[in-house]
Amino acid sequence: MDQVFAPWRIEWVEREEKNPDVDECVFCELPEHGDDRAARVVARNDRAYVLLNNAPYNPGHVMVIPDEHGGDYTALDDETLLAHARLKQQTLDALEAASNPDAFNTGMNLGGGASGGSIEDHVHTHVVPRWSGDTNFMPVVSDTKVIVEGLDDSYDRLHEAFAALDGATVPAEDAAVELD
Ligand SMILES: [Zn+2]
Repeated sequence: MDQVFAPWRIEWVEREEKNPDVDECVFCELPEHGDDRAARVVARNDRAYVLLNNAPYNPGHVMVIPDEHGGDYTALDDETLLAHARLKQQTLDALEAASNPDAFNTGMNLGGGASGGSIEDHVHTHVVPRWSGDTNFMPVVSDTKVIVEGLDDSYDRLHEAFAALDGATVPAEDAAVELD
């Protein structure tokens, strides 16, 4: 039996200082951060957004996340489903243009612990670009400083690629790309 590929087992999202007035869900807090670049929100449409994973399996590892809080994928309404799906397509296009991967892994963890995910109450889809022979990537970047610098590079490359898509606008410096 082949080994199952599950980059979401290493999922981790950096927490901001806790604000008791705000919902404690990071996937609700990060798009409201006010500085998309600092929050690593790289693109959005009117119902979903794209977040760089802070512990990437590979450069360009992102999550596509509906704005609406909730862990039940089957409860999403049609408009949210379509906006989320369309943003996944645009994310694949942007990653293709930004870094020319050989392949992608994309998937969700639903239902908590047994699925291998660490955030179970807000739906998110991982999109991981893959290159032939990339399986030894994590040990190479085990130094935290290297990972952080890599995230800045990934953000810039991906932001530029999203901004070049049809219908994209960049509302302000350091703001996420807005997509139709
Ligand atoms: Zn949430």
